[in-house]
Amino acid sequence: MKLLVLALGSLVVGCTSTESEGLEKRVDDLIAQMTLEEKVAQMSGNTPISGSYGQELWNVPGLERLGVPPLGMSDGPRGVGVHDGATAFPVGMARAATWDPDIERRVGETMGRELRAIGGNVLLAPTINNLRHPSWGRSQETYGEDVHLLSRMGVAFVQGVQEYVLANPKHYAGNSIEDTRLRVDVTIDERTLREIYLPHFRATVHEGRAASIMSAYNSVNGQFCGENEVLLRRILKEEWGFDGFVLSDFSLGTHPDSAINGLDLEMPTTNVFRSLLDDVRAGSIPEAVVDEAVQRMVRKKLEHGLYEPSPLDESVIASEEHLAVAQEAATNGSVLLKNESKTLPLDAAALTRIAVVGTLADMANIGDTGSSSVRPSFVVTILQGIQDLVGGEIAVDHIDKDVLGDEDLALVAAADAVVVVTGLTAEDEGESLIGAGDRVDLSLSGERGQLIQDAAAANDRTIVVLEGGSAITMGDWLPDVESLLMVWYPGQMGGHAIADLLFGNANPSGKLPITFPASLDQLPPFDNESLNVTYEYFHGYRYIDRNGSTPQFPFGFGLSYTAFSIANLRASQAQAAAGDIVLFNVDVTNTGAVAGAEVVQLYVTYPGSAVERSERELKGFTKVTLAPGETRTVEISVPVNSLAYYDVVDSAWALEGLEHEVLVGTSSRDLPLAAALTVSAEQPVSVY
Ligand code: BGC
Repeated sequence: MKLLVLALGSLVVGCTSTESEGLEKRVDDLIAQMTLEEKVAQMSGNTPISGSYGQELWNVPGLERLGVPPLGMSDGPRGVGVHDGATAFPVGMARAATWDPDIERRVGETMGRELRAIGGNVLLAPTINNLRHPSWGRSQETYGEDVHLLSRMGVAFVQGVQEYVLANPKHYAGNSIEDTRLRVDVTIDERTLREIYLPHFRATVHEGRAASIMSAYNSVNGQFCGENEVLLRRILKEEWGFDGFVLSDFSLGTHPDSAINGLDLEMPTTNVFRSLLDDVRAGSIPEAVVDEAVQRMVRKKLEHGLYEPSPLDESVIASEEHLAVAQEAATNGSVLLKNESKTLPLDAAALTRIAVVGTLADMANIGDTGSSSVRPSFVVTILQGIQDLVGGEIAVDHIDKDVLGDEDLALVAAADAVVVVTGLTAEDEGESLIGAGDRVDLSLSGERGQLIQDAAAANDRTIVVLEGGSAITMGDWLPDVESLLMVWYPGQMGGHAIADLLFGNANPSGKLPITFPASLDQLPPFDNESLNVTYEYFHGYRYIDRNGSTPQFPFGFGLSYTAFSIANLRASQAQAAAGDIVLFNVDVTNTGAVAGAEVVQLYVTYPGSAVERSERELKGFTKVTLAPGETRTVEISVPVNSLAYYDVVDSAWALEGLEHEVLVGTSSRDLPLAAALTVSAEQPVSVY
C-alpha cells in the first residue's frame, strides 16, 4: 500500500499550465541574476522588535535593482494590528461560532483590503492551532477544537485574505500551550499528528492555496518546529507540495538547522541567519537551499501581484462596509446557551427600567493585548449598544461594579430585567510575555461569579452576557440565571450586535466551536509549566464522548429564539467507494414565530474499525436561514476519503470497508436523524 501524494508541485490556482510555466521561468530568471549576498538578504526581516511592538509593518527587504518588492507584514487574527483605527473584528473563536465560512471569507477579505490599503502585503493570520485545551491563553485566536471546523473556517479566511494580500496560517504545529511555548516539547504520535494536528494546515495549503505558513515556537517530537525536518521538509513541502514560503515565529523561532530543514525566512530580523552567508560560502549549507527559499518568496510575490502598486487607499479602513462585516460576525457568532421561560428576547415596549451590571458592561473588552491586538478608533461597549438601542425609552441603570452593595442591589431588585455583563478580560488570558498567558482555572474569578449570584438572588429576570476567549465553567452560578449569551470578545461593533440580540432585532444563531465542560476534570490534563507534554488522540468532544461524561454544553450547541425541525434525511448513495462524494439532504423547517438560522451538523461513526476512532466525528455542516414556517432542503457533501484513518504501518491514509452510521442534527449531542453508509473495501484502501 503506497501513499499517493497530491502533487501540487508548482501549480498556480487560476493559471493554465503555460501561465504557470511562464511564472516559474520569470522566477528562475530573476534568481539567476541575483548575487548570493542579495539572496541571503531576502531571507530575514529587518525590523527589530522595539517598544512599539507590532505598530509598524514588519519589513523584509526585496531587491530594488531587479524590481523585487519587499514584504510588509502585520498581525491579523482579529484585524490589521499595525494600523491605528483598523477594523477590530470579533476574535477567531467568536467567528468560528458563526459556523459560517461565507462570513469568515468576507472577514478575511476585509482585513486583506485594509492591509493592502496601508501598503502591507502579508497578514500574519489565521491562527489555526487545534484547541487541545481551553486553558490555552491564545484560545480566542483559533477556530476551536475540531479539525473539520478549523479547516472550513481556515480555508475561507485564507481565500478571503488572498484576494488582496498573502495569508499566513500559523503556528505550524502543535502550538497549544502558552506559558512554556518557547521550550515545550510536544510528543505526538504519527496518527494523532496526521489526523488531529495537521489536517487543517493541509486544507489551507491545498484548498486555500495559502502563500505562506508560520512555524511554531514549540518543538514536536524532539525538534523545534522552526527546524523540524519532518514537519517542514517532508510533510509540508514534499508530501503536500506546498509551493509558498515558511517564516519563523518571531525572534526565537529560528534554530541552527532551520534553513537546511526548510525554513525560508527568519522574522522579524536577522539572528540565526546571520551566519548563513558564511555557511554557504564554506559549503556547509548548499546554495540550493538559499535559491529555493528566495524562489518561493519571489514566486508568491509575482503570483499575487505584489509588483503592482496598491489600488486601494486608506479610505477603506474601518469604512461602513467593513464595520458592518465586523458587526455581522459578532451577531452571528454569539451563542445563546440558556433561555429559561423565554426571558430573551427582551420586549422593549414592556420594560420601563433595566439594570446593566458589571465593570465589563462599559469596557472596551476586545481581547488579548498580545500580538493579535488591534487599535480601533472606537469600541461600542455593550452598555452603549443597549443605550443606543433603547434611546431613552427605557431607563438604564448602569452599575459599574463587580461587588454590589445594598443600594446597588436595591436598583437591581427594582429593575424589570437585569443584564449582567461579565467574564474574562486580557488580564485573565492571552499570549505569554506580552499578555496574560494560560488560564489554570476555567471558572470566573470569585468576585465575578459572586456578582452573578447576587444579581440573580435580587432579581428573577437576570440575564448574563458572558465575554471570554474559550470555555468557562459555571456550575456555581448557572442554575441561578434565566438566560446566558456567550459573546466571546465581540470586536468594536459588539455592543450593537449584542443589543440587537438582547432585544430581538437579531436572533442568536451561533454554535459552540468547543466543548464547555462541567468541570476541569472532564478534560485531558493541561500543565502550563511542563516542558514535556504528550498530545493524545482524544480531546474536546472526542474525549468527552469517549469517557461518557456530560459536558455543561456540548460542542456544536446553541439555542435560538425560534424552533427548528429537521427531517427526511436521504443520501445520494448508500454504498460508496474511495473517491466518491456522498450528498446528504435534509429538510429543515422553522417552526417558530420569528426568522432564524440553524446549523445542520453531520457526524460519522466508525463501528468495527481496526483502530480506535472517535465515537462520532464532524464531517460536514451547513447554516441555513429560514423565515417562520419556511422549509428548505440543505445539502451536506461528504468525500468518502475523509473517512480514512492514518495507517502508521504503511504511512498512508487508509479507507476501511465499514458500515458507518451518519448522524444529523443540531449539536454533537442532539443528532436525531441517522442513515447508513456502507463503504466497500475488502481491505483498507490507500487514499490521497
Ligand atoms: C506570535 C505570532 C505573531 C508574531 C508577530 C509572535 O510572538 O506568536 O503569532 O504573529 O509574534 O507579532
